[in-house]
Amino acid sequence: MKDIVIVGAGIVGCSIARELSRYNLNVTVIDKNQDVSEGISKANSGIIHGGYNEKKGTLKAKLNLEGNKIIDSLSEELEFPFKRNGSLVLAFNEEEFKKLKTLKSNGESLGIEELELLEKGEVLDLEENINCDVVGALHVKNSGIVSPYEMTLAFAENACENGVEFLLNHVVTDIKNNGDSYTLIIKDKDPIEAKIVINAAGLGGAFLNNLVSETKYEIEGVKGEYCLLDKIAGGLCKKTLFQVPSELSKGVLVTPTVDGNLLIGPNAAPSEVGDIKTTRKGIDEIIDKSKITMEKIPFDRVLNTFSGIRPKVKTKDFIIEEAKDAKNFINVIGIDSPGLTCAPAIANYVINIIKDKIKLDKKSNFKAHRTKMIRMSELNIEEKNKLIAENPAYGKMICKCEFVTEGEIIDSIRRPLGARTLDGVKRRTRATMGGCQGIGCMIPISAIISKELGIDISQVNKDRENSSVVGFKED
Ligand SMILES: Cc1cc2nc3c(=O)[nH]c(=O)nc-3n(C[C@H](O)[C@H](O)[C@H](O)COP(=O)(O)OP(=O)(O)OC[C@H]3O[C@@H](n4cnc5c(N)ncnc54)[C@H](O)[C@@H]3O)c2cc1C
Repeated sequence: MKDIVIVGAGIVGCSIARELSRYNLNVTVIDKNQDVSEGISKANSGIIHGGYNEKKGTLKAKLNLEGNKIIDSLSEELEFPFKRNGSLVLAFNEEEFKKLKTLKSNGESLGIEELELLEKGEVLDLEENINCDVVGALHVKNSGIVSPYEMTLAFAENACENGVEFLLNHVVTDIKNNGDSYTLIIKDKDPIEAKIVINAAGLGGAFLNNLVSETKYEIEGVKGEYCLLDKIAGGLCKKTLFQVPSELSKGVLVTPTVDGNLLIGPNAAPSEVGDIKTTRKGIDEIIDKSKITMEKIPFDRVLNTFSGIRPKVKTKDFIIEEAKDAKNFINVIGIDSPGLTCAPAIANYVINIIKDKIKLDKKSNFKAHRTKMIRMSELNIEEKNKLIAENPAYGKMICKCEFVTEGEIIDSIRRPLGARTLDGVKRRTRATMGGCQGIGCMIPISAIISKELGIDISQVNKDRENSSVVGFKED
């Protein structure tokens, strides 16, 4: 019997797992995908929001503020990249400028001090490539950028190092309430029993709740599509550039990423929960809207498009509570934006809910620090030469666009919770993320994974089952 099972290895489930790994508890994280961060947490804007536009009294407002404040120390402790680059919410007419004043006073009423209204000239002094018909902006100095999947991996790896078990490729199909425990039914695998279940299943959160509770939830998917541009385009701005937000979303942004690319998006289109295909219509919409911010965006430098689905619930706020008619079943659902920003604060909130349900006895050997992967491209020449002398695999370039070596790819597989798929290697090392998008290195990387895991190259998946880029071996 497990003490606690968390369903969902996104940023929410992994933040909770990392927090729980401080205690002497038997904790398991279950996810249907082959890697952590394969759900909403891999496809979003990666912004640590300032929180100025959240509604007073909501969990979103409270947890955004708390999450934003603890992110610096967490990024140091867990070594994931975070830049507090600040953002500008841009007004292109007087009507929009009035809305900025409302947003500023809303933010101030929430306790956010780092807000300032800027005139046209001040905006263009900060960001010279913004269209010169800008009227003014709200400068949100406390906002920042992260890589959402690197952040998720950092929490997951640290939780794993501190004893949390991760069961990937495990689909929860049913849950039985036994009164004092729950039995989770797993597709094609043995059932798992737990005293406490934490439902952090993102888009699958309503389904799991509805299996055990008479309070039924519905999740509406709202798709957001993006264009990712290369690092040459990434130099066009330093801050995250928002337009004035709407009811459905924070609007189309133009932002540098922590890795130096340029990201444009998202739109907000109703969508089936599992449908992450990008559409010509959606991409045209974000291209057109981004041109309001910046005419000069070089769309011939687009590397890729992708989309993520927001899990919207009717209340429009996060639902983080024990189900009223299912004792010890904790729902963490409806976690749409700003869920990435809030995740570490959500974890603390959840610990507070369960502290009276189970003994939280601190581990004496909890390891708070996680060491990030070696990135050869970040080292100086002496450091590179030393590493290559110790291990020649660090001298063998595999991804020539992002300068990723064989040594780094092997490291990404051998780490705690190591990569098992091509996309797993991609998210840990950046291999395949450059100009050729993997045309030159997907097969050599598949060969390395095959050798490391002792499986045939045709069994190495890109992301999900049967997604090998090499094809299947004939019997
Ligand atoms: C377009 C877009 C832009 C966004 N931008 C931002 C932003 O800039 N800043 C910000 O703070 N937030 C942003 N967000 C919100 C943020 O991305 C989410 O709040 C966050 O990623 C949700 O994390 P999660 O762990 O709840 O969900 P997920 O990452 O989806 O994790 C849930 C996991 O549960 C697993 N699962 C589901 N059902 C089952 C089952 N039956 N059995 C086993 N496993 C299951 C899934 O496989 C998945 O891995 C954005 C969201 C979107 C869609």
